[in-house]
Amino acid sequence: MRFLDINDFSRSDGERLPFDTQVDLSATEPSFREVRIVGALRNVVGVMTFRATVSGTCVAPCDRCLEDAVLSLESELKTVLTLESSDDDSVTVENGRIDLEKTAYDALVLALPTKILCREDCQGLCPSCGKNLNDGDCGCNQ
Ligand SMILES: [Zn+2]
Ligand SMILES: [Zn+2]
Repeated sequence: MRFLDINDFSRSDGERLPFDTQVDLSATEPSFREVRIVGALRNVVGVMTFRATVSGTCVAPCDRCLEDAVLSLESELKTVLTLESSDDDSVTVENGRIDLEKTAYDALVLALPTKILCREDCQGLCPSCGKNLNDGDCGCNQ
């Protein structure tokens, strides 16, 4: 389920609409895997609130050693919606539909660290010989 139709929902006061969706972002961003968006919409006296947790795995080259780094990402969303947009733009709403795929993608991009590291103390590559120093010292700098 990629889209949540909120046209009817916006007219039903007091309703709660839970969702739990696996999102396939492989076409948009192949490094994002196992993406899931879980949460609920609420309508309290005509005001729609959206709460969700977006989680996923990012597999991307480490900034230091270029080996694949596997990161667990998680992002919490909480915003007020109208049929056209969300308060803080964290949720993509168009023509009365929530695009869960786009919303999950945006949340994960924001959750990415500025530096992608395979591990905190990654030794990186030797600038002279290019050896991955996580596998042991190359001897260049001795
Ligand atoms: Zn690394
Ligand atoms: Zn070296």
